[in-house]
Amino acid sequence: MQNMVILGATGSIGASTLSVIATNPDKFCVYALVANSSVEKMHALCVTHQPVYAHMVNQQAAVKLKASLPAWCKTIVTTSEQDLIGLVTSQEVHTVMAAIVGAAGLVSTFAAVKAGKRVLLANKEALVMSGELFMHTAKTSGATILPVDSEHNAIFQCMPEAVQANLGYCDIAAEGISHILLTGSGGPFLTADLASFPHMSPEQACNHPNWSMGRKISVDSASMMNKGLEYIEARWLFNTRPEQLKVVIHPQSVIHSMVQYKDGSVIAQMGNPDMRTPIAHCMSYPQRISAGVEPLDFFKVGQLSFFEADFNRFPCLKLAIDACKQGQESTTVLNAANEIAVEAFLQGRIKFTDIAIINEQCLVSVSPASLNSIEDIIRLDGEARTQAMLAIKTLA
Ligand code: NDP
Repeated sequence: MQNMVILGATGSIGASTLSVIATNPDKFCVYALVANSSVEKMHALCVTHQPVYAHMVNQQAAVKLKASLPAWCKTIVTTSEQDLIGLVTSQEVHTVMAAIVGAAGLVSTFAAVKAGKRVLLANKEALVMSGELFMHTAKTSGATILPVDSEHNAIFQCMPEAVQANLGYCDIAAEGISHILLTGSGGPFLTADLASFPHMSPEQACNHPNWSMGRKISVDSASMMNKGLEYIEARWLFNTRPEQLKVVIHPQSVIHSMVQYKDGSVIAQMGNPDMRTPIAHCMSYPQRISAGVEPLDFFKVGQLSFFEADFNRFPCLKLAIDACKQGQESTTVLNAANEIAVEAFLQGRIKFTDIAIINEQCLVSVSPASLNSIEDIIRLDGEARTQAMLAIKTLA
């Protein structure tokens, strides 16, 4: 029985994780659920799953949750950061699902890594912000990092065991690998008229053709910043050089990524676009369990197509690839600027096309910084956020 903490329990990945747990109640136990402020959703989860702890980062939400739970529900409600760190590092906990969205997930995810836990990593922003430190800490503490992001999970599955056992420090060329092919659907605006981009609404941006996800990652998918963040994530997980990593547009999202070997072989991982598959893979690795996902029906799939990414259409993807080449300061700044810009777009304060403009403005002014600790990274993240907010004001 694995005791699990689910960071981001009220979100899309949280729901899929709880669904896999419900399919395999003999293997996993919900120890703690963590969210920010969604009281009603957390209330329903507590009543259904009866975790030992429910943690709400927002203090008022914690008070409301505590008052709303029925007397028979023995779940303990917590709210301080110290409590949260205590939960993810508790000796009772075996596995932490890291699925808080954005930089807000960094501290708790990092604490789980430092404590040597089995960390199922959905929160790609943590790796984008702190890649080198993150992977180094995992190596030192003995934490196991398993990639939940469907592309990275697919790549992981296509890799030889020597790579799987040495994430962050593997030598993929020595294992006979020439390229990682990171696939992406191209999102809802793949074929939209470029002239319509400035007028795209948050609802249109969040209307992904294949995947059902939270709003931030949905906007990132529409701008292909998500693929850019994944490019940076892959760089750290698989220790790649730029020439080893290629982005391939594959609109059907049936192939979730591929690994190309020196002998001409290409190994691809396929399945229906349902996050329960990579989540179940991570939860049970190296075994396999049922995820509750429909088997892929090739007769229904029909055609698979592939294209090169168009940087003119998706400038955020180019910014992220360039930032990855520039180094950790640039990727930390880009991640922060993008979070602020996406939030402003979702609130209707800026246009869709302004996201790339703000990201680029913040990247231009990146200066060298020593990023030796999480505190250093959080400081740089904060500075970039302030700069992005100023950039938004000048646009408005
Ligand atoms: P959602 O927006 O659906 O959920 C976000 C979760 O994070 C919620 O539980 C939310 O709580 C919680 N949260 C937000 N802010 C805070 C905070 N300050 N402190 C604590 N918890 C917070 O996001 P997704 O599930 O879509 O994505 C989660 C992560 O997984 C992201 O990093 C995303 O990139 C990654 N991912 C998602 C995929 C998907 O298919 N959805 C696929 C691959 C990766 P509350 O409800 O209270 O606000």
